[in-house]
Amino acid sequence: MPYHLATPQLWAVSIQAGRGLQVENRALAQLSGDRYAPGMTYADVIILGGGAAGLFCAGEAVQQGLRTVVLEHAARPGEKIRISGGGRCNFTNLATARDRFLSENPRFCASALAGFSPGDFVAMVDRAGIAWHEKTLGQLFCDEKATQITQMLLDRMKGAELRLQTAVTGVRRDGRGGFAVTTSDGQLYAAQVVVATGGRSIPKMGATGIAYDIARDFGLRIVEPRPGLVPLTFAQQDLDLCRPLAGLSVEAEIGHGGGRFRDALLFTHRGLSGPVILQISSFWKPGEALAVNLAPGTDVAAELKAQRGRAGRVAVATALSRLLPERLAQAIAVELALSDARLADQPNPVLDRIGARINSWHLRPVGSEGYRTAEVTLGGVDTRDLDARSLQARDVPGLFFIGECVDVTGWLGGYNFQWAWASAHAAGQALGRAGPGDDAAPGQG
Ligand SMILES: Cc1cc2nc3c(=O)[nH]c(=O)nc-3n(C[C@H](O)[C@H](O)[C@H](O)COP(=O)(O)OP(=O)(O)OC[C@H]3O[C@@H](n4cnc5c(N)ncnc54)[C@H](O)[C@@H]3O)c2cc1C
Repeated sequence: MPYHLATPQLWAVSIQAGRGLQVENRALAQLSGDRYAPGMTYADVIILGGGAAGLFCAGEAVQQGLRTVVLEHAARPGEKIRISGGGRCNFTNLATARDRFLSENPRFCASALAGFSPGDFVAMVDRAGIAWHEKTLGQLFCDEKATQITQMLLDRMKGAELRLQTAVTGVRRDGRGGFAVTTSDGQLYAAQVVVATGGRSIPKMGATGIAYDIARDFGLRIVEPRPGLVPLTFAQQDLDLCRPLAGLSVEAEIGHGGGRFRDALLFTHRGLSGPVILQISSFWKPGEALAVNLAPGTDVAAELKAQRGRAGRVAVATALSRLLPERLAQAIAVELALSDARLADQPNPVLDRIGARINSWHLRPVGSEGYRTAEVTLGGVDTRDLDARSLQARDVPGLFFIGECVDVTGWLGGYNFQWAWASAHAAGQALGRAGPGDDAAPGQG
């Protein structure tokens, strides 16, 4: 009988049908140089983290007959899936391609992405009977609940053991070619270990950054992590404009650091947010200025000059409100001390100044809201130290890093989950190539 554990209370049980195996007698316990003790667990593979990548990888491992244990320190698996996409989970993007990802090595993600496409994930979703829709720009969402995706992943990994409320504190070689994983509930042993503990984003939801510690312990390099897909914060003078407009959403275009996005910009009490800001935040570095186009596709100065020729008696604010939402038009007229001015009285240099203010609004963010609200963590395990086809550490056979902890970060729009699935798939296939061990401790003999 395959055994699937989903309750936090049960742990370190024997798993039937050749899954994880508990050491039950002293003879077996002494087979390893690491002296496996009675009551300890060993498996073909231990997956650290029961999030998107970890759960997906567990499914791959089980399907290849590997005795698999997943360790998750939260009380429930897949917490970020649950809250993703406003509760509907934007689970992939049909436009997935390597240029939708940021990394010190932009080519690295291509192999894993080619091995498992958005269409492959959609086929799984369809087989699970989950209804979905395309919202915009290739973004696919569940019609009902994000938790349907988590359930699908849990159903796929039946036969693995999922240990909840079990915090991983470290990993080391066990002296016999396998690995010892230290947890809040003792040690476990495995022939192979997959690190899928995500990045630092949203510590309240369980993010720990332990993947980076494990990577460093094994000599892998780290690309300095930083928050991505995060609202930016602004100095007082910019806030003076943003605050009265809080709640207003306009279409805007921002190009910066190699990224260019045209999407909704939201004024908030703390500054600016909305998809276009989240997207560009991943390309922005502290100290850099941004140029925001608040009327993409419209040459505001040229439009105002044309309006002046046709109906110059209107107020500047009224003329602007034909090009922008009224509240924003008013606020800009006030800011430029033109609230009472008539369009007819404005010479070309003034209209050029208004145009520049709208088509190229220069802003210097003072920071971001940080990991507290960042949807992802940029940077992470340096891809130079990983094999692109398998996500295995080049110099540590049997140790894999997948998902957000790797220095591969997607744009907003379902790309980050697609990376989680694709990287987990790549590692899962490689785990299978190592094959299941016999019913003895890893590394034995
Ligand atoms: C609010 C929000 C909305 C998002 N919406 C979307 C979206 O719609 N589409 C999209 O593509 N992406 C979205 N993302 C990003 C996406 O959630 C992540 O990129 C993805 O979850 C990364 O998967 P992962 O498995 O690598 O990490 P995670 O899903 O973060 O999983 C890591 C797991 O490891 C566990 N863990 C951490 N440390 C330890 C430890 N020491 N011991 C044991 N367990 C540990 C964590 O509790 C967690 O369950 C969103 C993110 C947020 C925060």
